[in-house]
Amino acid sequence: MGSPHLDSGRIVEIEDRMLAPTYSKIPIVAVRGRGARIWDIYGREYIDCMGGYGVALIGHCHPKVVEAVKEQIERLMICHGSIYNDARAEFIERLVSIAPKGLDKVFLSNSGAEAIEAALKIARKYTGRKAFISMMGGYHGKTMGALSITWREDYRKPFEPLIGEVRFAPYGDIDRLRSLVTGDVAAVIIEPVQGESGVRIPPDGYLKEVRELCDEKDILLIFDEVQCGLCRTGRMWASQHWDVTPDILCVAKGLASGIPVGATIAPRDIMDKLSIGEHTSTFGGNPIACAAGSATIDTLVSERLAERAWEVGCIFKRMLEDRLSRYKVVREVRGLGLMIAFDLRLPVVKDVVLGAAANGLLILYSGRATVRLLPPLVIGRDEVEYAVSILEKLIAVEDEKLKARMHS
Ligand SMILES: *Cc1c(COP(=O)(O)O)cnc(C)c1O
Repeated sequence: MGSPHLDSGRIVEIEDRMLAPTYSKIPIVAVRGRGARIWDIYGREYIDCMGGYGVALIGHCHPKVVEAVKEQIERLMICHGSIYNDARAEFIERLVSIAPKGLDKVFLSNSGAEAIEAALKIARKYTGRKAFISMMGGYHGKTMGALSITWREDYRKPFEPLIGEVRFAPYGDIDRLRSLVTGDVAAVIIEPVQGESGVRIPPDGYLKEVRELCDEKDILLIFDEVQCGLCRTGRMWASQHWDVTPDILCVAKGLASGIPVGATIAPRDIMDKLSIGEHTSTFGGNPIACAAGSATIDTLVSERLAERAWEVGCIFKRMLEDRLSRYKVVREVRGLGLMIAFDLRLPVVKDVVLGAAANGLLILYSGRATVRLLPPLVIGRDEVEYAVSILEKLIAVEDEKLKARMHS
C-alpha cells in the first residue's frame, strides 16, 4: 500500500494556506478507512461516527465497491450522456428498482446540491409555476438554488439575491404550511428526517398531511433524502416509515460510497417535461460513479443494511439514553435507525467533537449544542459500545462544568 508523500505538519500547512477557508477543521490527517474505522497518518485508529457526513453507508472501502471501481476504471472512465453506456444502464435500472413505486425516471448528477437543482428546475418546468415552500430547519446544499431553499440565514444572507419566491414553513405544522400555499407554488420541499438541523423527526401523520395538501392543490412534493435515504433510518427511504411517496426524490451522499453522484428521480410524465438540452451535466452518469453506485445498492440490499441500521440504531440510541440521560447537561436523545443526535444544555459541542477525536472517535455536530452521529450501517456492537463510552466520559466533564456554572 502506498504511503503518503508528505508529513502531517506539511499536509495541514498546505491545506490551511491554499484551501478556501470554509471548513471547520478537526486536526486529523486521515489516510485509510475500512468498515466503520479510519486511520490517521500515524496509524491511530478512529471509530467513525461521522462517516464522511453520512456517505460511508456500507462502510469505508467496501471490497465490492473497490472491485467494481477498479474493473470500471480500467475499461472506461468517462462516457458523456449523449452516448449509451453499460454501467449507466445497470445503475439506473437498480436505482429505479429500489425507488418508491412510480418514480421510474432518473437524472444523474454529482452531488446532493445538484440533485436539488434538478428537482427545482423539473418542478418549475412541469407546473409552469415559480414559488417553492421549504421547511424551517431544512438543509438542501449550497449552490444558489439549493441555498435559496435552505433555512439557515447565515448561509443565505451574504449571497443574496437568491431565488426570490421561497417561503419557509415550520417543520411539522400542517396548518401553517396550508396558510403559505398560493396559486404560484410549484413544489413543497422536505427532508423526511431533517439532518443538518439535528436529526429532527416529523410528528406521525405530518408527511401524509403534506402529501394530501399537495394533491389537493396540485403542487409537487419533493423529498430530499440525500442524508436520510438509502437505509440510514432503517428503511430504504425514511419516508417509508410514514408510507408517503413524493413526486420527486433527491438522493446523493452514500449512493456511490464516496464517488460523487447525485440522482433526481421522478415519474415519467414529470421527467419527460424536460426537453433536450434543458438540463445536462458533463460528469453526471459517468461510468465510475455508476459502477460504484450499482455495487453500493447491491450491498445495501444483499447485506440487509436497512434491518441492520434499525437494529443497531435501536441499540445505539438506547445505550445513549441509558448512559447519557442521567447527566443534566444532556437535554434529549433522538434518533431513527442510525441517524442519531443528542442536545446539550451548553454550546460546547466543538469541545466534545475535538475531545472525541482525541479519544479515537469521530462525530458530527449540528449547531453549537447538538451532537450528531451518522456511522456506517455496518458499525459493530463493540464499536457502538466504544463510542458510547467515550461520549459518556466527555459528557461527564461537560456536566461538571454545568454544575460549576450553576453554583457560581
Ligand atoms: C448534504 C446534503 C445536501 C447537499 O449535498 P452536497 O453533496 O453537499 O451538495 C442536500 N440535502 C441534504 C439533506 C443533505 O444532507
